[in-house]
Amino acid sequence: MGAQELNAIVRQKIEVSPSLIILRVAPDGWDMPEFKPGQFNVLALPGSARRCKYSDEEAVELDPDKLIKRAYSASSASSEKEYVEFYITLLGSGALTPRLFALDVGDKLWMGKKFTGMFTIDDIPKESNIVFLATGTGLAPYMSMIRSDLDHSLDRRYAVLHGANHSWDLGYEAELIAMQRMSKNFTYLPMISMPEEEPSAWKGHSGFVQELWTEGILEEKWGFKPTSENTHVLLCGNPLMIEFMVRHLTEEGYTEQTKNIPGQLHLERYW
Ligand SMILES: Cc1cc2nc3c(=O)[nH]c(=O)nc-3n(C[C@H](O)[C@H](O)[C@H](O)COP(=O)(O)OP(=O)(O)OC[C@H]3O[C@@H](n4cnc5c(N)ncnc54)[C@H](O)[C@@H]3O)c2cc1C
Repeated sequence: MGAQELNAIVRQKIEVSPSLIILRVAPDGWDMPEFKPGQFNVLALPGSARRCKYSDEEAVELDPDKLIKRAYSASSASSEKEYVEFYITLLGSGALTPRLFALDVGDKLWMGKKFTGMFTIDDIPKESNIVFLATGTGLAPYMSMIRSDLDHSLDRRYAVLHGANHSWDLGYEAELIAMQRMSKNFTYLPMISMPEEEPSAWKGHSGFVQELWTEGILEEKWGFKPTSENTHVLLCGNPLMIEFMVRHLTEEGYTEQTKNIPGQLHLERYW
């Protein structure tokens, strides 16, 4: 694997927690690709790239020359031309993420020249409210949408419902809190699932993120019930959360958006 194939460079690495990083990547000698907020690109490193300290040993030896490619949603604004930002979780047993976590500023990696994906808010009517529901790094595409597309002059409401294990896994928390303070139509509801592991008492919501919907917490915050008539819902992250919410929202009258059928339910499955 010639080093010339690694066509991008790490501009910044922010360690959110031991298992979460924000990686800012720039093309090395070519133009930043255009993308729509919500779309994803492919990052890759060869099998020869080293794994980070806190990862499992590889069960099977990988071809040192072959690129290990995986999809990642951009979390930066589409107007950002200096870098593309990615929000990545470490899978200790994974093939690529332990290698991405071992990267430092200035290191090279491979990035695709095109972004793809249908998970955008382009087709959502302007009068409809939008709920962004995510577990973990499922927040990434929403950060791009929020940073690029939110129109605070509209009457519509936006809500980010973010589930994570611990308070320290709530990436982008400060930015989302600031957004909520600055904008009358933006709501941020974080939820953690392991409050017993917090070093100091957690005063926020605890449980699984879908409960923010099913227990009426968002409804109470908004002061009205979000329905398929007035609200589109985006789901991203853990497949179990997505399956649960699809079943629940379908019973509430929501229809899943597909290539050919318009709907109020939009999904991005990470695995
Ligand atoms: C459209 C799309 C966008 C994506 N965007 C992001 C993103 O923004 N940030 C991000 O961190 N990941 C994202 N992913 C997941 C990413 O592509 C990889 O699957 C993930 O980083 C694991 O890669 P790996 O090589 O380390 O693990 P692998 O060796 O490929 O092992 C993957 C296996 O681990 C499981 N798995 C995958 N992801 C997770 C997870 N997050 N938590 C628990 N188990 C998991 C699944 O069973 C999967 O089959 C996205 C996936 C898709 C399809």
